[in-house]
Amino acid sequence: MKGPNMAKTSSTILNYIGGDWRASSSGDVLEVVNPATAKTISTVPLSTPQEVDQAVQEANLAFDSWKRVPPANRIQYLFRLKDLLEQHFDDLACTITIENGKTLKEAQGEIRRAIENVEVACGIPTMMQGGILEDIAPGIDEYMLRQSIGVCAIISPFNFPGMIPFWFLPYALACGNPVIVKPSERTPLTMQKLFHLLEEAGFEKGVVNLVNGGPETVNALLDHPGVRAISFVGSTPVAKHVYSRAAKNGKRVQAQGGAKNPILILPDADPEKTTQIVTDSVFGNAGQRCLAASLVVIVGDETKKLFVPALIEAANDRTVGYGLEEGIEMGPVITPQSKERITGLIQKGVDEGADLLVDGRKTEIKGYEGGNFLRPTILENVALDGEVVQTEIFGPVMGLVHVQDINEAIAFVNQGTYGNMACLFTTNGAAARKFRNQAEAGNIGINIGVAAPMAFFPFSGWKDSFFGTLHGQSNHAVEFYTQTKVVVERWPREWSRKF
Ligand code: NAD
Repeated sequence: MKGPNMAKTSSTILNYIGGDWRASSSGDVLEVVNPATAKTISTVPLSTPQEVDQAVQEANLAFDSWKRVPPANRIQYLFRLKDLLEQHFDDLACTITIENGKTLKEAQGEIRRAIENVEVACGIPTMMQGGILEDIAPGIDEYMLRQSIGVCAIISPFNFPGMIPFWFLPYALACGNPVIVKPSERTPLTMQKLFHLLEEAGFEKGVVNLVNGGPETVNALLDHPGVRAISFVGSTPVAKHVYSRAAKNGKRVQAQGGAKNPILILPDADPEKTTQIVTDSVFGNAGQRCLAASLVVIVGDETKKLFVPALIEAANDRTVGYGLEEGIEMGPVITPQSKERITGLIQKGVDEGADLLVDGRKTEIKGYEGGNFLRPTILENVALDGEVVQTEIFGPVMGLVHVQDINEAIAFVNQGTYGNMACLFTTNGAAARKFRNQAEAGNIGINIGVAAPMAFFPFSGWKDSFFGTLHGQSNHAVEFYTQTKVVVERWPREWSRKF
């Protein structure tokens, strides 16, 4: 086992404002608890609007000089950051497991994805280029520049404390904008460590700022006239709130919300691979992934006969425990309240008529009796208008739905209010093509269980899973963090005769 000592955790989380580590003056603090051991590992302050204001002021002071640093020089800081992230890879992954509960392997995958975004943002001298068209009229040229926008705030959820802020941060910085990060108050340790690395990378004072806190801190960012853009990831009700409040205050906003992702299994899907990938998708990260499949739609009676026993077996075989230990495939959920909410939803499913094929509710892990552990649960024949189908459970629960053909399956996908991801398992190219074309979701997987876009593609999302136009990552992030300026220039031929 990789011991918690491997990732040293600080007793109190600090803010990083204007190049200084500052203790918050707020009397409101929350305990940060390891969800597997139930031990308190730190305390996090709920920073005040005054502290948000200090960060915004420092960031605005830094903006003038940071935006003038040539893009090719700005990315040198990111190259240094990439190096530091590689050097501290194991410690960061360990910290994620300790505060979030996911397995070490999952945490390593998360940090790898964060690093990939730094790598892509290093392409900013190319990605930030504008365009020119000569001779739009005699003697007149027109061109478009991309310029920095100002202070950008990043507000993130608990489930990917290292990766999600990096869908935004490297691009905002590379585009010449100072940033303020507000991590989840439930998992603030990883960002604390990442900020030590940002400090070591040498960013100028005020260019990177960290303000810890909860809803009041978020609202202060949404209301502050000195913040120009908001990047948010979290649950749908909060995403809606963030989107409307920030937009009302004249800011640009990208707000990614919750999900309820279906996976379809067609009769010709490969049984072994499909079973393994589908169960990984549903139960990986204990189901606390915005790209976790939660509804498995099985097409046809023969497919049902083949797959239901295989899925039950795979769910029962999953090893649950502390994510730092060898061989563990699933960690705890984030809080006792989450565990209670998830078990309540399982019961609701049963009350609504579902069959409980695997019941993961009564789970105790030896040595970690206080942890928020659940085992995989499978509910079959869930009511289509019931809670299990309509509500984001965000836990290790698979809802099984049976349909007769692909049209019925796609109709089921499209009835949902969310649109984060939809996946299909098949060996039939025409079926895959139809699904890709008709499924109403922003991220599509064909024989893939977690269709997470690589950093050079936007992290898409439709319907109630996304509010805004431009997503995180890739050229979408570059467009979000820049404003276009169009210049029309006339240089009449007769003027040049003077030279
Ligand atoms: P959350 O909405 O509770 O919190 C997200 C952030 O919003 C946190 O920083 C929190 O401090 C802040 N916040 C919470 N309540 C607020 C309020 N009333 N006003 C202002 N700010 C508030 O989300 P969570 O529980 O941390 O994360 C899980 C959710 O995030 C799930 O719904 C999951 O699907 C979603 N998520 C979505 C994506 C995506 O890409 N679409 C990715 C990861 C997670």
